[in-house]
Amino acid sequence: MAHEDAVMTRQKIGLRMSDALLVVDLQRDFCAGGKLEVPHADEIVPIVNALVEEAHARGALVVASRDLHPPDHQSFHAFGGRWPQHCVRGTRGADLHPDLKLPEGALFVAKARRAEREQASVFDATGLAEELRRRAVERVFIVGVAEEVCVKASAIDAVRLGFVTHVLRAATRPVTPEGGENARAEMRAAGVTVIEAP
Ligand SMILES: [Zn+2]
Repeated sequence: MAHEDAVMTRQKIGLRMSDALLVVDLQRDFCAGGKLEVPHADEIVPIVNALVEEAHARGALVVASRDLHPPDHQSFHAFGGRWPQHCVRGTRGADLHPDLKLPEGALFVAKARRAEREQASVFDATGLAEELRRRAVERVFIVGVAEEVCVKASAIDAVRLGFVTHVLRAATRPVTPEGGENARAEMRAAGVTVIEAP
């Protein structure tokens, strides 16, 4: 328990009701043993859970996105894309990480469901920005995977859409270290605050 307390204390970030915590694609296929494993992705699950708990306690909205690809999605190698097949809807790999604990009232966003649409960003044609505005959300805190793909795309979109945007480095992981470094530079240049320390 002492360890859990330490995690909680370290991760409190002062969330409030007008905030949203966006948990990006924390799915089995991006974690250990998955089809597109993001190194060390599993390590962030307890940290994300602590943040989710804080968000829920403060009345902040929790949003969880999932890649729900058709088997012939354009991002897959076989169809000219960058990635091995992953998160195909209806498969176990598309499930959220089994240890991720989401509260009642969490909002779920499905993305990349159409073969011809990349949709790396959780804001790309999902209606999420409108929903956040309807709920008077002002700040978004983004966690999840992968840092240089869907986290980056979502964070840059969030800024563009007018939200005060933070990415918590302790609660995201990149596919490659260089990818993560470049992503953080790009996000900062776009106006995202990257919170470095836990
Ligand atoms: Zn994908």
